[in-house]
Amino acid sequence: MALFSKLFAKIRGGAISSGDWAEIEETLIASDLGAKNAAEIISIAKKVKAEELDTAVLSALESWLSNDNRALATNLNRPITILIVGVNGTGKTTSTAKLTAYLKRENKTVLLAAADTFRAAAVEQLQTWGNRLGVEVVTGPSNGDPASVAFDAASKAKADSFDYLIIDTAGRLHTKSGLMDELGKVRRVIEKTLPIDEVLLVVDATTGQNGIVQAKIFMESVAITGLILTKMDGSARGGIALAIERETKTPIKFIGTGEGAGDLEAFDSTRYLNGLFQ
Ligand code: GDP
Repeated sequence: MALFSKLFAKIRGGAISSGDWAEIEETLIASDLGAKNAAEIISIAKKVKAEELDTAVLSALESWLSNDNRALATNLNRPITILIVGVNGTGKTTSTAKLTAYLKRENKTVLLAAADTFRAAAVEQLQTWGNRLGVEVVTGPSNGDPASVAFDAASKAKADSFDYLIIDTAGRLHTKSGLMDELGKVRRVIEKTLPIDEVLLVVDATTGQNGIVQAKIFMESVAITGLILTKMDGSARGGIALAIERETKTPIKFIGTGEGAGDLEAFDSTRYLNGLFQ
């Protein structure tokens, strides 16, 4: 993506007019870095000598990223429970499947729960993934209580000693308080059996700054432990990862890079930052 290396080559190239600065700032904004962050980068770049540019900007970017642990809990002597939440269409179900494939590659056993009982298609989609990946999917009756599916799944995960339980929840709009209440109920019933280790919010990278607004509103209702940033393959504007961590102070744990089961990567912040400067 090399966003900064290209821009900085221009700065190092010599005298920069105010038009050039404006152009550089626009390019940063177009990368989904956000207007405020882009302005900050420009102000740093204007202050330092050319040879200090990379170090100065890199240290600002590092300070924007979350210091929280990005790894999932592992090897507890009980199932590790992961709740997948987000707005419909962001890639919740696909990310649930990809995370399953990721854990299976690490020889972990995974039980899935299709708690989106409102959308028959969502349940079917997860079942199809379950068949493909060879993992069991706990479901309930169509339009049934999602909390009851979650309860059954937690009981089964515990009784059968699965390593992980991943629960795909109904996609909610932040405006629908009923759905948010229901998410709270899903949480409470699971916690009767197992602690919830992770609540991962799925955000579609192609929605840019809008995705950040969505995430922040979401966080007012649910305690999120990490983000899955999907569709990074479809977004040339990699600034979104920096912007969303800075704004939400929540670590990106995984990025989605395609529609296949293998298209999920643990987010490596050092690699990501290096990529911006390569
Ligand atoms: P949900 O409604 O949030 O459960 O969303 P889905 O999992 O059904 O995903 C919506 C669409 O986005 C599907 O067509 C997925 O294949 C696609 N999708 C999900 N993640 C990614 C990704 O990382 N990259 C790409 N290119 N497409 C994705």
